[in-house]
Amino acid sequence: MNELASILKTHNLKVTPQRLAIYSILLNTKEHPSAEAIYQSLSLDHPNISLATVYKTLDTFKINNLVQELNVGEGNFRYDANILDHTHAFCNSCRKVIDIDESISPEITKQLCNDSGFKVTSSKVYLFGTCKDCQ
Ligand SMILES: [Zn+2]
Ligand SMILES: [Zn+2]
Repeated sequence: MNELASILKTHNLKVTPQRLAIYSILLNTKEHPSAEAIYQSLSLDHPNISLATVYKTLDTFKINNLVQELNVGEGNFRYDANILDHTHAFCNSCRKVIDIDESISPEITKQLCNDSGFKVTSSKVYLFGTCKDCQ
């Protein structure tokens, strides 16, 4: 059994060719693709996978903590197989989503707790601007 299959199994998910294909795309990209983009990159090797299946699979992955869903205000979601807290930067020009390895959330979290007594359970930070290539 390959590595991806065993990851799915540890999350009590049935291993299907569709799930393996979609998870493999997400593990091998830093592009933070949308469901549509994943669907498009699948169409060559897996023409039998429908867009509805991609949506359903991503939902299952999200519920089982295999991927995180990003919302950079585009009207649809992006997906990331790196589920650790990290900051994302969105380029307003080429619409690329970049990982900023240093997460600024722990500091904000601490400040929120100190200042307002608010109990933070999770946080997502998005930066907006222009990437290196577009400047
Ligand atoms: Zn850019
Ligand atoms: Zn990311």
